[in-house]
Amino acid sequence: MGKALIIGCGGVANVTIRKCCQNSDVFEEIMIASRTKSKCDALKAKLEGGKTKIHTAQVDADYTDQLIPLIESFKPDVVINLALPYQDLTIMDACLATKTHYLDTANYEPKDTAKFEYKWQWAYKEKFEKAGIMALLGCGFDPGVTGVFTAYAQKHYFDEIHYIDILDCNGGDHGYPFATNFNPEINIREVTSKGRYWENGRWVETEPMEIKRVYDFPQIGEKDMYLLYHEELESLVKNVRGLKRIRFFMTFGQSYLTHLKCLQNVGMTSIEPIDFNGMKIVPLQFLKAVLPDPASLGPRTKGKTNIGCIFQGIKDGKERTYYVYNVCDHQESYKETESQAISYTTGVPAMIGAMLMIQGKWMKPGVYNVEEFDPDPFMDALNKWGLPWHEDFNPVLVD
Ligand code: NDP
Repeated sequence: MGKALIIGCGGVANVTIRKCCQNSDVFEEIMIASRTKSKCDALKAKLEGGKTKIHTAQVDADYTDQLIPLIESFKPDVVINLALPYQDLTIMDACLATKTHYLDTANYEPKDTAKFEYKWQWAYKEKFEKAGIMALLGCGFDPGVTGVFTAYAQKHYFDEIHYIDILDCNGGDHGYPFATNFNPEINIREVTSKGRYWENGRWVETEPMEIKRVYDFPQIGEKDMYLLYHEELESLVKNVRGLKRIRFFMTFGQSYLTHLKCLQNVGMTSIEPIDFNGMKIVPLQFLKAVLPDPASLGPRTKGKTNIGCIFQGIKDGKERTYYVYNVCDHQESYKETESQAISYTTGVPAMIGAMLMIQGKWMKPGVYNVEEFDPDPFMDALNKWGLPWHEDFNPVLVD
């Protein structure tokens, strides 16, 4: 049925690529293109023999002029961007130049400022509309499935949603005192930033990790969780009617937080370049080089993730609450895809989003976030492709 060009060959791409190969009726042909071609070739060697035809290529996605000839020669239906947030705009430019649909899992972030916002990508809306192509932004788990959960709650259970709490719990243990579950640079930039939530029409800023709650997560148990700013808050505030407050919480263990504090105190998480032996180095990039590669955590990680949304609002004049979540087992994910659950929960939704675009079920020219589409086919696909969800109509609320 279709062809996808997948850019990047890291933890998340490893899952998306395998899922595309499992879904060969839709993904007849894929090209894996990344900075380090040997990684693409190694994955191709593992997966060859199935029905999906796999090609590989080297590309530096920082350069639109390298991407354009690649897209022109392969002619994909959709480009799935699973490189880093820094490459979003160069890849969107290449999609515009070649009139090709686009999907990613994280919003654009300039390399020299730890600040992510949709404004740079939303600014492409008119250009994409005029070119007759679509961009689907943030189609991982969070952002991604959390937006689909919200659209599903809004469609089926609420006239108005007033409060949303997004809870992201990683109950997994990799046995290291400190490691990050996905790209360390992106992860540490995110968790060392100030917290932010939206209430009564305005953003409220907090110090990093200032607001802590304890929650008893289904299938995991009690965990400490901290309020963070997360990118789907920006689009959900815009797209959910009647909203009064939205917050995002993520769990962190004490060992992670103690190490992070220490690294911050000595300047290792800074993105300001410093002089070192006559060279300029960025401390956070150096730290990334000494930390365990997230891809190596897969075989060691035991336990589960639980990511979901708690909604409060009204239906037919009556108050109601609704919790929808997915539980994903690190070891089951690894058995299937050689990746732990963080990559799995991101990589599967990216495949599903691209599938719905190729099938024409989610297709309209412009730039969109996932909650702007009919959630039902996506919710069905989550059950089918390895991320089944659970519902609770009487959940414990977060104070
Ligand atoms: P990794 O670091 O494991 O992989 C990134 C891949 O992109 C690597 O293969 C890397 O190449 C490649 N890459 C980096 N720069 C370039 C470039 N200039 N040109 C071509 N390829 C490049 O990251 P993850 O797989 O963990 O994360 C991928 C994306 O998913 C990130 O944007 C991350 O923010 C996002 N994410 C989204 C989540 C969600 O739920 N929405 C959750 C987790 C992650 P090389 O091998 O040479 O380094």
